[in-house]
Amino acid sequence: MAESKPHNLTSRQMRDKLNGISPSFCAAKWLQVTMHLQTGFTHSCHHPIPHKIPLDEIKNNPSALHNTLFKKKQREMMLRGERPSECDFCWNIEDAPGDNLSDRAHKSNEDWAAPNLEEIKNLAPEENINPTYLEVSFSNACNFKCAYCSPDISSKWFEEIKQFGSYPTSQNFNSFDNYKLIDKMPYAPDEPNPYIDAFWLWWPEVCQSLKVFRITGGEPLLARSTFRVFEHLEANPNLNLDFAINSNLGVPVGLIDKMATHAENLLGLGPDRTRKVKSFTLFTSVDTYGAQSEYIRTGQKYDEFVRNVESLLKRIPSLQIVIMCTTNALSVTGFKGLLTEVARIKQEFYDERRYGPALTIDISYLRLPSFLSIKILPDSYIRYFEQSLSLMLELSEEKLGVNRGFSEHEISKMRRLIDYMGVPTQARWLGTMRTDFFMFINEYDRRRGLDFNKAFPEMSEFFGLCKTARAQIFLGLAP
Ligand code: SF4
Repeated sequence: MAESKPHNLTSRQMRDKLNGISPSFCAAKWLQVTMHLQTGFTHSCHHPIPHKIPLDEIKNNPSALHNTLFKKKQREMMLRGERPSECDFCWNIEDAPGDNLSDRAHKSNEDWAAPNLEEIKNLAPEENINPTYLEVSFSNACNFKCAYCSPDISSKWFEEIKQFGSYPTSQNFNSFDNYKLIDKMPYAPDEPNPYIDAFWLWWPEVCQSLKVFRITGGEPLLARSTFRVFEHLEANPNLNLDFAINSNLGVPVGLIDKMATHAENLLGLGPDRTRKVKSFTLFTSVDTYGAQSEYIRTGQKYDEFVRNVESLLKRIPSLQIVIMCTTNALSVTGFKGLLTEVARIKQEFYDERRYGPALTIDISYLRLPSFLSIKILPDSYIRYFEQSLSLMLELSEEKLGVNRGFSEHEISKMRRLIDYMGVPTQARWLGTMRTDFFMFINEYDRRRGLDFNKAFPEMSEFFGLCKTARAQIFLGLAP
């Protein structure tokens, strides 16, 4: 993703343009939506905490999957120049030292957003609007249970909590009681689901105007609706559409092969040699390197994951893969190893037939659960990220050539991670989170047959700090 866009604004210029409408205006609030149909929750964009879609709102208006009354209120606030608190991801970045650009500027400057700015700024807040960027998860079916994930997103996590109950952290991590309290228990993958029904009613109207459509999960390759979408797009092409799906690339190889065949059909590499969408991108996830990645992402086999990435890039020379990297406390020490791997694949699979790099890394940071956030680490851990940044600069596009090295956009995300890590935290919060981390890891190891100290020997001193924090809270000596 380059800083300069076809409509000729840099993200910085876009930020200034947005501020000319209002200091909190963001096109994503109107045009981007993520919907979790297995629970009936929605948010725009993916940063704010999702809110429940009232069933009575979708009864006669399936577009309320996106245009909830709640969201309309947030739009109204933005038009008035007030900051919706749900967008604190962006406000934190904008308020951090340095002149950092938040996703408010980056997203509003995307091709799915920037051309619609005039239309949406003049729209009455109570009006419905079809998104141009739609992200959907159909089900929580998943064969992984990553440390920071939850039962509403992963059926494996659901099974674990059903068997063992919640984790012994201050907020009872992943407790079913908490999910029931906020009406977030997922529909089982094969259960009748009114949100899925509303989606398929709305789909014929919304799909032709979409510029970006992305299927997330759970693991989308385990959801039947994913393949229904593939078939629909193959029969009803939309050449303006950037279509994407997420996959952990750890499912049986037959499913990866089935997805690859559909991808070939959409890209005009199928038997009829006719392109059906503008592009097809595969998003996958990995948060650090090797065995430490496997520790975070229970179910993953790191080498198999890398092999699947490479064989897909080899099979489909126009395919682009994006790694979504949710950096968390367990990502930091091995991060440079992951970047080295990404750099190798970028160079090895460089192909002019792609309109971008073979592999991109999209670095963000985990916010919840807070006890796994990078913010719980001592300041000295920033050096790991500084080394990672140096590596990215050494292997940048500027040094290696366009699409062969790390782009300015990728590097800017690394810089902002370092800035974020450097923002001070309160001692009381830190004590609670480190205690939670200690309690979580002990239970995680016990349930899953893992050993934190073996997987992360370089973090043993930090783990000791967490143990002390736990003892201080237990003895009433915490600050
Ligand atoms: S302000 Fe930020 S968090 Fe809020 S909708 Fe825009 S990009 Fe998302």
